[in-house]
Amino acid sequence: MRSPILDYLDTLIAETQHVVEGQPADYIPELAAADPEKVAVALCTVNGTVYASGDTDHHFSIQSMSKPFAYALAIEDHGLAGIRDLIGVEPSGEAFNELSLDPETGRPRNPMINAGAIATHALISSEETSGLDRILEFFSRLTGRDVGLDDAVAASELATADRNLGLAYLLHASGQLDGDPQVSVEGYVQQCAASVTVADLALMASTLANGGVQPHSGERLLCRESTRHLLSVMATCGMYDAAGDWLTTVGIPAKSGVAGGIIGVLPGQIGVAVFSPRLDRHGNSVRGVAMMERLSEDLGLHLMEASRPARSALRETLRVTVEDQPATVYVLQGDLVLSSIEALVHELIESPPSTDLVVFDMARVDEVLPVARRTSSEMAAKLLDEGHRIIIVDPESTVADFTDSRGRGIERWSPERLESALG
Ligand code: GLU
Repeated sequence: MRSPILDYLDTLIAETQHVVEGQPADYIPELAAADPEKVAVALCTVNGTVYASGDTDHHFSIQSMSKPFAYALAIEDHGLAGIRDLIGVEPSGEAFNELSLDPETGRPRNPMINAGAIATHALISSEETSGLDRILEFFSRLTGRDVGLDDAVAASELATADRNLGLAYLLHASGQLDGDPQVSVEGYVQQCAASVTVADLALMASTLANGGVQPHSGERLLCRESTRHLLSVMATCGMYDAAGDWLTTVGIPAKSGVAGGIIGVLPGQIGVAVFSPRLDRHGNSVRGVAMMERLSEDLGLHLMEASRPARSALRETLRVTVEDQPATVYVLQGDLVLSSIEALVHELIESPPSTDLVVFDMARVDEVLPVARRTSSEMAAKLLDEGHRIIIVDPESTVADFTDSRGRGIERWSPERLESALG
């Protein structure tokens, strides 16, 4: 059975099809040649379940979405206090490749703009191991597979890297970059050319959502404090000079890349990634931003919304007899948001109910977000299609009435009726 969460992601892609403004990045020739119609979206829960839709096999270069992860390694090496002395944490309000440093301190303003990212790359490089090898190894742990480079993109960017070279020499001249500026830029450009899919990125983002623990391997890749610090910097500086706009509309820590990807992190709940190559003037994917805005609205991701406990919607599963028939009763609880309903949907798909009669007891449910309402209705319709009889105990009428493809509907019972039927 196909998960209704995947159906939701398909709809998200279909409903943003009209967003065709912008152009692929043109200052890197290989990126200018990207197919602008490619599009993909993925979610990964902190339990490690990945949902991906669209061109899910399409590989593209990670670009600036590599910056938070390189910064994470630099924090591990230098400690939080140490790194703060080297690279600032203030949003710059300037373009990502601006040729400027903080006039008071002479430091890069933050690690998400190129000046800070080139300095960061140099900080994670040593005589023994190149920064590039370290970051590729880190990406491989984060994604659970060997991440390689898109050599064509790296070569193309290196051939046109004057601006980044200018930045590196500026950093070197002001004492903010040890070593050869040329070598740092080469390493940084290759770091940006790591080749990933949206599912890889969602998994990487979910490690940050999960406080630094990779959900599949259970390996702690970042300590809690570093993760919190990193997410704060992503929230204020991740979307370049559009950071304020982003925080008010989408409202989650995020990072975009000029190949067209954007990752977002909802702490404690999910990692999200979208891809579409056409960019706005800030260097952010136009359709990607549109998809993120929809996701944030539909899934209730905005951090500044009253926080909802991220507990599972499924309180318990009972195997009982209802009116002399064996039945499976799913007792739901709390606010139904995507991450809480996901656990229920996952369970229903992985181990479908073995009884014909299925009851959803929603008497303990508080608020239901539109996407959770839709997902639960679609799930019930799929179960009806498979021949189950469905009873919903829904005193607040949170689930809409509907019928399956053969015209059969759900039955609504009061909590009292279920109680007396259970005996
Ligand atoms: N490699 C790109 C650059 O340095 C990354 C920029 C980005 O993705 O925003 O120009």
